[in-house]
Amino acid sequence: MFPPSCKGWGVLVYPSIPLRTSLEFTERVYNLTQDNPPEPVEGLHYFEAFFIILVAVDEHSLNKKTRRSPPLPKKMLGIIKQNVSLKPLSYLHVGGKTRHFFTAKSIKEVFNVLDFWFSQKRLKNKRILILGGGTNVLFSDKVFNGLVLKIDINFIKVVGKDVIFSGAGTSMVKLLNFCLKNKFAGLEWTARLPGTLGGAVRGNAGCFGGEIKDSVIGVASLDFINGNFYFRLRNNRDCDFGYRSSIFKKITERQNFSVILWILLKMSKKNDISSEKSIAESNFAYRLKKQPIKSPTLGSTFKNIPVQKVPKEVLKEFSHKIKEDPFPILPVALLLNGANLKGVGIGGAKFSEKHPNFIVNIGKARASDVKKLISLAKRRVKSKFGISLEEEIEIIK
Ligand SMILES: Cc1cc2nc3c(=O)[nH]c(=O)nc-3n(C[C@H](O)[C@H](O)[C@H](O)COP(=O)(O)OP(=O)(O)OC[C@H]3O[C@@H](n4cnc5c(N)ncnc54)[C@H](O)[C@@H]3O)c2cc1C
Repeated sequence: MFPPSCKGWGVLVYPSIPLRTSLEFTERVYNLTQDNPPEPVEGLHYFEAFFIILVAVDEHSLNKKTRRSPPLPKKMLGIIKQNVSLKPLSYLHVGGKTRHFFTAKSIKEVFNVLDFWFSQKRLKNKRILILGGGTNVLFSDKVFNGLVLKIDINFIKVVGKDVIFSGAGTSMVKLLNFCLKNKFAGLEWTARLPGTLGGAVRGNAGCFGGEIKDSVIGVASLDFINGNFYFRLRNNRDCDFGYRSSIFKKITERQNFSVILWILLKMSKKNDISSEKSIAESNFAYRLKKQPIKSPTLGSTFKNIPVQKVPKEVLKEFSHKIKEDPFPILPVALLLNGANLKGVGIGGAKFSEKHPNFIVNIGKARASDVKKLISLAKRRVKSKFGISLEEEIEIIK
């Protein structure tokens, strides 16, 4: 899986490291970085660079204010918040409460909270939901009887001529601003894409012909699989990216999950970034004009339809509307429009008039209102066009 040239990196050449080892390993990383933060080495294979960074750098060494790693908390339960409202954590402002909530600002905090959680008999079988910016999740109206773990590992670091190393909690808006300011091209398509880099990697976010997979070199994650934790490093191929999909999404079942921690991105260094700036500006202007991005929403409710899944007669009707984004698709908004769903509402939620694939919260929407709209759209589109819609948003049960 890893290039042979990385053999010298001891524990890091193993793709999977159990949690305990990972904890000890990060302890060593912290000790190393506090006194002696090494410089990234130029001209190395990306993976070698990634390994060196994983050994040598952590987010605490990137931020002088938090350079000293926090002590291991003795009573995590005092730190994990209880009975927290999920509404402000969702872009749609919908949801009940979560029994437990924790914001992890570093990889170490992720390890600590999960280590604590799984050491507690009464907690360890309860559910865990990883949260980024909350721009794509529909929480239930009911109580989430488990832990919502918000990933706020938030840093951006240039490592080498055209490589950026960033925490999963970094906001995409902040990342693009950083890139444009430092003359790195490649992420212009993300202009005003809400949410975090971790969320974008997990769902292989994309628009305007771009996808995050095109920039990812490698991803570090903590995977919980069949009762064991593994600290994993994956290259782009191992991330198994697909249309709004990745290995991180595929791993997640009721008992298994993957926490994306760090991402290494390949950029393109420019002398003049003005054309990329104007592309980003025009993408943003397009969003403002065509999408209700100022309303509480989760973006596209349904995935667009790959043309091979569209019945022939429907394809004929919409042949002039097929888009390459990133491969030939029929925009689902056309089907919703054709099924007269524009502006249709239930309770406090409705299909936006501006863009029918966006459900907006027009008042006190409940998750049940949104789910009813989703069912209605699925029924109408199936009966009118013979096409089964698939949700792009994550529905939390
Ligand atoms: C106005 C608007 C416009 C949008 N436009 C687009 C668009 O053009 N293209 C597009 O692809 N999407 C779009 N979206 C959807 C959304 O912005 C993206 O899917 C975004 O990448 C989600 O990131 P997030 O951090 O908010 O993830 P969240 O909503 O917090 O989570 C989404 C999923 O990712 C998981 N997750 C989040 N962080 C991590 C992590 N660190 N490790 C593991 N799992 C994690 C969560 O468990 C959840 O299953 C839009 C949304 C809105 C509100």
